[in-house]
Amino acid sequence: MGIVVDPSARFTTTASVVVIGAGGAGAIAALAARSAGADVLVLDRDAAPSGATACSSGMVPAAGTAEQKSRGIADSPQRFSDDIQAKANGSADASLVEALTGASASVLEWLTKQYGIRFELVEGVAPGHSLSRMHALADRGGATLLSSLYSALAKQGVRLEPSADVTDLVVDDAQRIIGVRYKRSGKVESVGCATLILACNGFAGNSQLVAQYLPDVRGLPFAGHEGSQGDALAWGTELGARLADIDGFLAHGAVVLSQRLPLPWSLMTEGAVQVNRDGERFVNEHEGYSESALFVLAQPHATAFMIYDERVHEIGLTMPNYATAVSSGVIKRESLLRDLAEQLGVRREGLEATIALVNALAFDDASDEFGREFRATQMLLGPYYGVPVTCALLGTEGGLAIDGSGRVLRQDGSPFPNLLAAGGAARGVSGDAGGGYLEGNGLLTAIVGGYIAGSTAAAAIAE
Ligand SMILES: Cc1cc2nc3c(=O)[nH]c(=O)nc-3n(C[C@H](O)[C@H](O)[C@H](O)COP(=O)(O)OP(=O)(O)OC[C@H]3O[C@@H](n4cnc5c(N)ncnc54)[C@H](O)[C@@H]3O)c2cc1C
Repeated sequence: MGIVVDPSARFTTTASVVVIGAGGAGAIAALAARSAGADVLVLDRDAAPSGATACSSGMVPAAGTAEQKSRGIADSPQRFSDDIQAKANGSADASLVEALTGASASVLEWLTKQYGIRFELVEGVAPGHSLSRMHALADRGGATLLSSLYSALAKQGVRLEPSADVTDLVVDDAQRIIGVRYKRSGKVESVGCATLILACNGFAGNSQLVAQYLPDVRGLPFAGHEGSQGDALAWGTELGARLADIDGFLAHGAVVLSQRLPLPWSLMTEGAVQVNRDGERFVNEHEGYSESALFVLAQPHATAFMIYDERVHEIGLTMPNYATAVSSGVIKRESLLRDLAEQLGVRREGLEATIALVNALAFDDASDEFGREFRATQMLLGPYYGVPVTCALLGTEGGLAIDGSGRVLRQDGSPFPNLLAAGGAARGVSGDAGGGYLEGNGLLTAIVGGYIAGSTAAAAIAE
C-alpha cells in the first residue's frame, strides 16, 4: 500500500472524481460533485459500507438555519465559530472553522431542497454550544442519515463500489493524482481520475498509529469503525503532506462496551451523574463526553456508573442509542437507591451520600467542587436508574492539513494539484489537544466538509 509514481499508468476505467470512503464525508462529497455535473465513483472497502457515520447520533450542528429562525434562535456562523474556538482553546484552524460554520446552514438547506433530506432542530443545548443548533432527521441516528444520502446518490446515478479496498494512489511526476488501484474479490482493479477525494476517516482503529501519535489515550478501548486505519495519513505522509492537530481525538466516557454503544450525553445535561464503584462522583459531567473518557479510565477497572431517574430515562427514550441500551437489558431500575447500588455492585453508603449531596446542591441551584452547576428542576427522585459504562476512543481529530476548500496542503502550505480530503481523513476543528472536541465537530467536518470538497472537485473539473 502506498504511492506509485507512474505517469504512463493505464486504468481499467475512469471517473472525473474518485472518492475513497462511503461514510458521511464521502457520500456527500460525491453528491455535491455529481450535482455540479461531475462523473463520480465512490469506493469503499466494506461489503456494506457504513463507516463511523452510521455509529454516530446523526446530529449535525449548523448556525443560522430556517429551523432556528422559526424558533426565534438568533445564531450566526460567528457565534458558532466562537463556541468551537472556546472549546479548542483558540487552537482550531481559523480558516477551516470559518469555512465550515459559514456553509453549515446552506448545506443542510441544500440537502432539504435538492434531495428532500429534511433536518429538524434537536431540542436542548448540547454541552459547549451557546444555544440550540444540533440538527437531525426525524428518525435520528447516523445510519438513517447515511441511508438517506445513499438514496440520493442512487437517484443521481452515482456509482458506489463496495468491497473495494484502495491500496495505492498513482501519481505523475508533478504529484498529480492520476488514478487509484484497489483490490476487489481478490483481483487488482484500477480507476483513472481527474480529482481524488480522501474520505476514508482517521487512524483511531490502528493501535500502532494511536500509540505513536496519541500516547495518552492508548489505554482506551476502541469503539469506532474498524475502517479507520489511517490510510489517508499514510498516503499523505508519503506524498509529503502536512499533518495538523494530530493530538486531537474524540473519545467517550459513557460507553456500553459490549455493544460499542455510546450513551447520549444529553442524559448528563438533563441531570444524570457519574459515580465510581465507591459511589463517588469524580468529574464535572457537563464538560463534555470526549474529555470525560480519561477520567473514567482513571477509575478502578475503568468502570463508571451513570445514575439518573425516571424523568431523565423518559428523555433518553427519544434517542436511538439509549433505546437500544434499554432493550438490551443493561439499564437497571429500582425504587430505592440501596437496591440499585446492590444491582450495580456500587458501595451503597457512597451512592446514597452522593445523591443526597447532588439533590442538596440542586435545591440551592448551586455548583459542586468540580464546577458543575445543579438546578432544582433536575433533582434525582426515585425510581432510580443505573447503567455500568466505560470509556472508549471513537475517532481521531487530527489528520491531513487542508485549506477552507478542502485541498490537501504540502509541508510548505501549497495545495497539491488535485487532492482533496474531508471528514476524519483531514484535520478537524478540535485544535491540537484532547479536550478540544465540541459535540458535533465530527459530523460538521464530514457533512459540511464533504460538501465543500465535492464542490471544489467539480469546480476544478469545470475549469
Ligand atoms: C460510536 C461513534 C459515535 C459518534 N457520535 C458522533 C456524534 O454524535 N456527533 C458527531 O459529530 N460525531 C460523532 N462521531 C464521529 C463521526 O461519526 C465521524 O467523525 C464521522 O462520521 C466521520 O465521517 P467520515 O466520512 O470521515 O468517516 P466514516 O464514516 O468512517 O467513513 C469512512 C469510510 O472509508 C472507508 N475506508 C477506509 N479506508 C479505505 C480504503 N483504503 N479503501 C476503501 N475504503 C476505505 C471505511 O470503510 C469507511 O466506510 C461518532 C463516532 C463514533 C465511532
